[in-house]
Amino acid sequence: MSRLLERFTLGALEVVALSDGAPDRSLDGFFDGAAPAEWTRAVGVTSAADAVPFNFGSFLVRGDGHTTLIDTGFGAHGRSLGVPGGGELLLRLAEAGARREDVDRVVHTHLHVDHCGWNLDDDAGGAITFPNATFHLHAAELAYWTGPASDTNSMAAGARGRINPLVAAGRVQTFEGSEHALYETLTLLHTPGHTPGHVAALLSSQGQHLVVVGDAAHHPVHFEHHDWVPGVDVDPAASARSRGLLAALAADRDALVTGGHFPILSLGHVRRVEGGYRWQPV
Ligand SMILES: [Zn+2]
Repeated sequence: MSRLLERFTLGALEVVALSDGAPDRSLDGFFDGAAPAEWTRAVGVTSAADAVPFNFGSFLVRGDGHTTLIDTGFGAHGRSLGVPGGGELLLRLAEAGARREDVDRVVHTHLHVDHCGWNLDDDAGGAITFPNATFHLHAAELAYWTGPASDTNSMAAGARGRINPLVAAGRVQTFEGSEHALYETLTLLHTPGHTPGHVAALLSSQGQHLVVVGDAAHHPVHFEHHDWVPGVDVDPAASARSRGLLAALAADRDALVTGGHFPILSLGHVRRVEGGYRWQPV
């Protein structure tokens, strides 16, 4: 089982991996393009149905004068999932020593329902959970989920329900282009494929770097096999390209890498090897 909370430091930054639910589950469906025998061997299971530790995770970042939350989990209804830690993100936040009022920046890697659930607090009548936060996301992500292009996407209703009230309240800030330096410690990297405006977050402090990959990878083996594509990705070719871009960036900068769906705490480096990349756990 994934842990539910773990802290680590990156230069002057404190980063806390927080879970909003940590099921053990099968990864079947995350590796389109690979034969089951191939991906199961890479993941270390014997059958596609085997459960492995998984996580619905967020990251709290402090130490740069801001309190930043990367993604906001499933929300209160996550308790109905019946999984360890489901719907408990605010409890984890309190354990990390942060109040919801402290959060002044929320970054959305994308707007799937497991990444924007706590934008609103269903226990408080749907009020904005983080009253002092500005919500940052790529313009292409907002345009996709609030426009006609997602009308036939089964996840559109969930995304719209969680972002439209924030747009109406003037709390959303979007950016365009391939990267956006939100602050000297935090750069957002447009890495489309999983969704049109998906971003990864690059944290930097005192010469150390951490790439929070969002859903560009659901398991570290995705960095060794860029063409293994989660079935839910809207643009498989772009998804593979984005994994390649992140792998190259992580290798070039000797960055630590983690992801919200990796079990807590999964940190690693992506190393260049003959013919590709290798994941090296820390
Ligand atoms: Zn996800």
